[in-house]
Amino acid sequence: NNIVAIVGRPNVGKSTFFNRLIQRRDAIVDSVSGVTRDRNYGKSEWNGKEFSVIDTGGYIKGSDDIFEGEIRKQVELAIDEADAIMFMVDVEEGITPMDEEVAKLLRKVTKPVILVVNKVDNSKRHTDALEFYNLGLGEYFAIGGMNGTGTGDLLDHLVKVLPELPEAIEEENPLPRFAVVGRPNAGKSSIINALIGEDRFVVTDIAGTTRDAIDTKYNRFGFEFNLIDTAGIRRKAKVKEDLEFYSVMRSVRAIEHSDVCILVIDATRGFESQDQNIFWLAEKNRKGIVILVNKWDLIEKDTMTSKEYENRIREQIKPFTDVPIIFVSALEKQRLLKGLEAAVEVFENRKQRVATSKFNELMLPIIEAYPPPALKGKYVKIKYCMQLPTAIPQFVFFANLPQYIKDPYKRFIENKLRENYNFTGVPIDIYFRQK
Ligand code: GDP
Repeated sequence: NNIVAIVGRPNVGKSTFFNRLIQRRDAIVDSVSGVTRDRNYGKSEWNGKEFSVIDTGGYIKGSDDIFEGEIRKQVELAIDEADAIMFMVDVEEGITPMDEEVAKLLRKVTKPVILVVNKVDNSKRHTDALEFYNLGLGEYFAIGGMNGTGTGDLLDHLVKVLPELPEAIEEENPLPRFAVVGRPNAGKSSIINALIGEDRFVVTDIAGTTRDAIDTKYNRFGFEFNLIDTAGIRRKAKVKEDLEFYSVMRSVRAIEHSDVCILVIDATRGFESQDQNIFWLAEKNRKGIVILVNKWDLIEKDTMTSKEYENRIREQIKPFTDVPIIFVSALEKQRLLKGLEAAVEVFENRKQRVATSKFNELMLPIIEAYPPPALKGKYVKIKYCMQLPTAIPQFVFFANLPQYIKDPYKRFIENKLRENYNFTGVPIDIYFRQK
């Protein structure tokens, strides 16, 4: 997918516009996971073209006293990582010095940059907006992000200027694609080096869909796989990497491009909100997930057992807790092979096909014993179920009144499915439909 970043000062209306873009599609994912969170990443689609959107402002807390430097870093990173940039300004405020700074950076960019003048909701403001030609970014799009005026033309233009991406390479290259992701300093590079050695056992290089994401094919310990090396993309490290935004933004592309995400966390720091965000990104993209708790050599084993540690992580990743968690040390080369094996297993789980007759034999008696609760005196009956012929695990259950089936029951079904089939590490979708 193309990645579109929305940049601009705080309070120009980035989040409102972002929410408008992702609304419909995100609502679907929400009802599946049952979790709501602050959103700053989502998928959108216009005229049949899908793209990912990042609201860069969403990552900056206490945005009233934001430093100019942070905006600058935010923009530089967007320039590095995104395929197109929407620069939003506010007609009420006019051009501010900060806007000028941003425009200066964006004028040098060769990627598509779209100037969006927001809060243009009457004719006087259309006249006011003219001053934004002074930013030297050429034509702008005037929108009213609140009520949506002008956004259609803007999106028509956006999907026109987004670069054409080469077709996915899955078919010709069915090997697992692993992305090693995680916070800076979690030990991603160390793990990759320990796993594949300095010589890196390269078989071939396959250029990914962009100049940044490079799949490299490896053959190690009897496994063949492609590695998407985010640690290696630490180019132009002008920006300090301590902000959550940077590591997440850097992870987005790798995650989207992978089959299984190997999420590396630093045992000495625990599973924090940044880790949670990256986990959630992977889950939302329906990728397989393995968690490696690295630097386990540094943990005092008397005070903290791996079981306790594991339980704490599982608390943090609810409700999708059926994920391998492996304690490793890149330094002492401990259990790294186990980590790799887990990733291969998750890849296999994700590809698995469940035979329809067996599936019905298994699920229908369970459903009969524990049917969905009746609603308004009406009984909900599920008569038939099957796995969909999709690339990732999705299941459909046909019912007389599918709209009456609520999330708790869906979770019950998912748990039963997971008890009986090995979908460890794999997010699954369950749908109820009218038959
Ligand atoms: P990255 O930013 O995620 O790629 O992290 P690096 O691989 O660069 O590692 C960050 C720091 O943690 C470096 O100083 C490593 O030497 C150290 N480190 C990585 N793995 C381990 C480990 O298993 N044990 C210990 N004690 N240190 C580690």
